[in-house]
Amino acid sequence: MHKKSITIALAGNPNSGKTTIFNNITGTRQKVGNWPGVTVEKKEGSVSKYGYDLKIIDLPGTYSLTPFSIEEIVARNFVLEESPDVVIDIIDASNLERSLYLATQLRELDCKVLFALNMADVAFSRGIKINADKLSELLDVPVVFTTGNKNKGITNLLKTAIKLAESTSNISPKRKVKYSKDIETSISKLQNFIKERVEQNFPYNIRWTAIKLLENDKIVRKRIRQKSENKSREILREVETHRKHLLSRFDEEPEIVMTDERYGFIAGIIKEIIKTSTKRRIDTSRNIDLVLTNRFIGFPIFILFIWIMFQTTFTAGSYPMEWLSSGVNWLSTILATSLPDSFLKDLLLNGIIAGVGSVIIFLPNILILFFFIAIFEDTGYMARAAFLMDKIMHLIGLHGKSFIPMLMGFGCSVPAIMATRTLESNKDRILTILITPFMSCSAKLPIYILLAGTFFSARAGTVIFSIYITGIVFSIITGRLFRSTLFKGADAPFVMELPPYRAPMIKSLIIHMWDRSKMFLKKMGGIILVGSIIVWMLTAFPRNINYSMNYNEEINKINTSSSFTGKQKKAAITKLKLNEKAEKAEKSFMGRIGKTIAPVFAPIGIDWRGSVALLTGFVAKEIVVSSLGILYAADETEETDEPDALKNALLSSEMTPLSALSLMVFVLLYLPCVATIATIRRETGSLKWTLFSIVYSTSIAWAAAFCVYQGGKVVGLS
Ligand code: GDP
Ligand code: MG
Repeated sequence: MHKKSITIALAGNPNSGKTTIFNNITGTRQKVGNWPGVTVEKKEGSVSKYGYDLKIIDLPGTYSLTPFSIEEIVARNFVLEESPDVVIDIIDASNLERSLYLATQLRELDCKVLFALNMADVAFSRGIKINADKLSELLDVPVVFTTGNKNKGITNLLKTAIKLAESTSNISPKRKVKYSKDIETSISKLQNFIKERVEQNFPYNIRWTAIKLLENDKIVRKRIRQKSENKSREILREVETHRKHLLSRFDEEPEIVMTDERYGFIAGIIKEIIKTSTKRRIDTSRNIDLVLTNRFIGFPIFILFIWIMFQTTFTAGSYPMEWLSSGVNWLSTILATSLPDSFLKDLLLNGIIAGVGSVIIFLPNILILFFFIAIFEDTGYMARAAFLMDKIMHLIGLHGKSFIPMLMGFGCSVPAIMATRTLESNKDRILTILITPFMSCSAKLPIYILLAGTFFSARAGTVIFSIYITGIVFSIITGRLFRSTLFKGADAPFVMELPPYRAPMIKSLIIHMWDRSKMFLKKMGGIILVGSIIVWMLTAFPRNINYSMNYNEEINKINTSSSFTGKQKKAAITKLKLNEKAEKAEKSFMGRIGKTIAPVFAPIGIDWRGSVALLTGFVAKEIVVSSLGILYAADETEETDEPDALKNALLSSEMTPLSALSLMVFVLLYLPCVATIATIRRETGSLKWTLFSIVYSTSIAWAAAFCVYQGGKVVGLS
């Protein structure tokens, strides 16, 4: 027998615990993607329970259904157009007043809605007593208590949802927001007017439509035009009459009056259902904030957290990194000894394993970095970071909200740039997009770890931290510069939401971390694999090279000569072999490309190998490491027992700590990868800004690396 399927949408304010409950219900069976056409994350999962196939959708977190932000539009459209069987509104019970706005709007929408009073534990600990039965009665909606992070009440929630979905009774019209008399009169008149003019199968609730039209809701106006073409003009004219009438009556736009009345209605509900005990616990969040957002110590603490993040990423990551690295070496030794010599073996060992292998070992570091970002997000600290940065952001004429995309840029510029969609002003958006790539993304981390680890071993964590800070400084300078030239004008005002602090939940941290790291693994199998093969091809061809001397002959000479000791012989031969390898690389296609562009990089202390590696980084930044791995490859067949082959090769090359630093600075600032460029193009909708971003970042990178390298030489560093 086929099981019946039920679609359940989870709605709610940001941070109300939607995703937690979603994860509780769906476990690991979930799909993460984007809502069509926009970049808001869409989570979907399905599970079979109680004899039903349940399809669960995690809607974007919103405070209302007024279609101002993209999240609100997405959430509302889903409820309207996809008609889920049940909508569960996850309500933060410790913050009921704020949550009820969305709840009443959902109630007005005429869908089957049920309330989950989540954070029941927090409400309880603050001494807030909620009369759920009363709430249920007042709004005629089933109400269930849940504690998402303890997985409490979820069974009851699901069973209630199924019962609601199966109930055939029509939703009672009486328990809805009631407006004042004039507004109600207009609503019902308009309602009748519309009813007579639209088709029988008009898809939306008529009262709701009338309310939205009175509120001048752009999307509903558009729908009316689509669904009742010939009558729409008449309807909209009638709407105008009513709006004018209400305007003259209240001396204020109807939408403002109606919002006020909704809040009044909510205040009334709150009075009825909440009892706050007098021994109200002191709000712990506020106490934590006294410290963490303190004017004097807040910022140093923030810097400390970030420093700890990078220090841990580097130190704790180095152990699993070594295991992975010996694993990769073990694999290539096995293959080197067991496979017969051939072109394919060369490709596999020196192309694929040297390339992908040198990047994959950074997976632990990336996992740790994303784990920290997940902690910041889940505890609510991210919003504080934005708040702390608000003042600094104002220096560049942006507000703290722009800092969230920038912080996300530490992970990956692509979602970071997409996250700028939450900014209202177009100027703010483009400016934020232009400065976000300076926030060093996780793909660049392997490069820093390799170079800093090789040349600054003891202070690697601090060096990497400074590189990140340099990125932030450059984005601030850039912002300041552009704000006073290209983007004149004031920033849009806004209020920063500071959600309460919460202890993070391991399960959700891991899911967050994993969601993002998956991208890294996908890249491994895709673009990095292909990139490595191409880089290797370019180094392996042309096959027949005119060497400056006959190496084999020389080697034979040494072998047969009697004027050397065995040890000297071996050393001399190794040296010759390395020279041969170096000459082969120099005369390969890659070498030729490198030699051609090398003059550009010479003033910043980067040799031809570094130059080509940087060039390949255009595809994806991780490939810089693969390229270095391939270009600097020590003789794999002989030194595979040496776990730090690439490190040693770098140390014995001409690269110095100073030129490594210059290389890192260049990598930090130069043009973003293809995926980011494509995103910039799409999000700015302008080729001009895209090209501008490429040229600007690369010039800045060169200039900064020049200062580092030449400046370092002047003060006597090497
Ligand atoms: P969303 O933004 O609505 O998806 O919220 P999340 O599911 O990401 O939850 C935000 C934070 O609240 C997480 O740190 C959760 O662990 C925490 N959380 C979720 N439900 C509860 C709850 O019932 N009680 C408490 N104390 N914390 C919760
Ligand atoms: Mg969420």
